[in-house]
Amino acid sequence: MGVPHFKLMQLLALLSLFSISSASGEKGYNSKLIGSEAVTEKDDAQTLYASAGFLKCKSDKLVEPVSTQEISELLQKLNADGRPFKVRATRRGRHTPNRFACAGKGGSAKSPTGENFEVTNVDDTTYSVTILLHLMNRVVAVDHGRHRLTVEAGMTMQNLADAAVSNGMSVPVGVLPVYGNLTVGGVISTSAHGTGAGVDSTLGDIVVGLKWVNGKGDVITSEVDDEKGVQEVRALVGGLGALGIITEVTFQLLPAGALTQIETWEREDSNFAADVKHQLQTSTPHILYFWRPDLGAYKAFHFKPLKTGDVPIHPYHPNGRNAIFMASPKEAAMAVNAHMRDYTLDFDDSGPKSDVLNAQGCALSAAFMNIPAFHDGDIILQNATIPSSYAMIAEECAPYCSWDLSYFGATGEDNEFTIKLSDIDDFVKDVKSVIKAEEEERQKVLDRRYGDGKVKLCLNPGMFWFRFGKGSKSLLATTAGHGEPVLYVTSAFFASGYATHLPPKIDHINEVLEQLALCKYKARPHYGKNFDRAFTHPSCHLRDTFPEENIVKLLNLRDEHDPRKVFESELLKRMLERHGPVYGDKCSLHHQCYCREDSHCADGYKCLPSVSYPEYKD
Ligand SMILES: Cc1cc2nc3c(=O)[nH]c(=O)nc-3n(C[C@H](O)[C@H](O)[C@H](O)COP(=O)(O)OP(=O)(O)OC[C@H]3O[C@@H](n4cnc5c(N)ncnc54)[C@H](O)[C@@H]3O)c2cc1C
Repeated sequence: MGVPHFKLMQLLALLSLFSISSASGEKGYNSKLIGSEAVTEKDDAQTLYASAGFLKCKSDKLVEPVSTQEISELLQKLNADGRPFKVRATRRGRHTPNRFACAGKGGSAKSPTGENFEVTNVDDTTYSVTILLHLMNRVVAVDHGRHRLTVEAGMTMQNLADAAVSNGMSVPVGVLPVYGNLTVGGVISTSAHGTGAGVDSTLGDIVVGLKWVNGKGDVITSEVDDEKGVQEVRALVGGLGALGIITEVTFQLLPAGALTQIETWEREDSNFAADVKHQLQTSTPHILYFWRPDLGAYKAFHFKPLKTGDVPIHPYHPNGRNAIFMASPKEAAMAVNAHMRDYTLDFDDSGPKSDVLNAQGCALSAAFMNIPAFHDGDIILQNATIPSSYAMIAEECAPYCSWDLSYFGATGEDNEFTIKLSDIDDFVKDVKSVIKAEEEERQKVLDRRYGDGKVKLCLNPGMFWFRFGKGSKSLLATTAGHGEPVLYVTSAFFASGYATHLPPKIDHINEVLEQLALCKYKARPHYGKNFDRAFTHPSCHLRDTFPEENIVKLLNLRDEHDPRKVFESELLKRMLERHGPVYGDKCSLHHQCYCREDSHCADGYKCLPSVSYPEYKD
């Protein structure tokens, strides 16, 4: 049964009042975690689950090295053994929801009843090893004079920011992703980013040196100051670990005390694309947008780094922090859990409470849009001046995060695409018209049941995120080869953890938008956010969006450093060789494919041309 409407409203008020205290007071769960491990609940000696719980990977062996040397010796030994093997580096509770991180056999973990979609990455004769890097989370070297910090690749973003500050340096605003628990190695290998149009906006942008182990077990140090080194760095940043395992990273940071003014803007979205371009030009290149086309609104978080001598116009909060991923109060988590389950089960809006569920969905969405983005302890900050090192990353919320399945009963299913910023007008128009067309039938059902306009249909709770970056010379980065700023569009909407036999209600929209992005906008999906289906479109091949010379350079370097392709996961092979997806029963439900026939969909669903773009089926 759904939570009564009035109660949900109260709980949402609680949520939007930023009540982190009830959750954070119960901490203790994290004490079970070692080093920089993320929350994980079901792992056993061979099987690892991705943090959202819906993807598992089984390897023959999991190893937990403490040094570069240990990884080197492991690779040398595996080579000497002579049998075929695959190796991937990751961490327990990894955040990647696709099979790039899988050394062994991978598959969906969505259905508790066992009708899961399985994909075999390796044959039975290939030995698979997963390297877990959570024990490699130390500071290695500090160069005070040049403001450079060298850390191990298993370190989290939160620990990196803390290490910078405690060693008298600052992290420039814009380069860190939003969640403090992601790791240096994972973020750099997936070209994960913060926001900054045409300026530094990924952690990879401030890398000046890497230590890594290649497929033969050689330990290599690559620095951007020399020609050979810079080529290797460009292959490794955003390179999905295809060349080797990164073990240490040197960052170019800023002197201590860098400050950023943060501002929160709320607007209606009728001129969204024009507003974005104008704000980027006149306010700051570092902006994060939350957008809900169905609510006709957006919220913008402006990050304005101060230069020496600038006088801040907003009050200074030395303990000001990003708060986007606050730990959620238990009551709010239970309400979201129940709502998401009931809303998903009412898949055709024919249940007894479709009116209540849609109203709840709109309220919940509005509440999520209103979550404060910055705080200083219990004080919510709208406009303030805070340390740059902490302006972008949100503190750890685990295990009370809004995507922790066992706590929230729901999780975020993100999809992200990098397109050219100059395509923003067309893209925004497309998103609006796809949502309108795809939801028309559902709205008609509600109008017939309850009277015209009486019940407004709402998308799943969540929002589109818009962030920005710059083109890069890295070979396989999502920004590779772009001569102009890029737009990162993330579709971040909740999915129920208790109705996993059904697609999230937003999925048919996502499927059209994803295919539109891949095929019309030549977009690149996020290696650490998207599902397998985005990397293996049957006709719009991701490989073709990269300059061919980049792929040639990467493959040449791979011949030199990983001749046995031990780091090549099955998904990377599909992507580089332009293969389509692995089709199979319900592959679309498990986000492994875009459907081609009805058997690819959930039971009771058909694979039909979409209303808005009939060339794409959903
Ligand atoms: C709550 C949340 C918020 C997020 N926010 C952002 C954001 O703001 N911006 C953004 O861009 N992304 C964001 N992400 C996505 C995130 O960047 C990716 O999930 C990324 O994969 C990092 O996760 P991880 O550290 O767990 O790495 P993993 O998932 O463990 O690894 C990512 C990939 O890199 C490879 N790899 C990992 N370590 C190494 C290494 N040392 N050497 C070679 N290869 C390696 C892995 O095999 C895998 O293929 C977010 C994810 C979550 C869950």
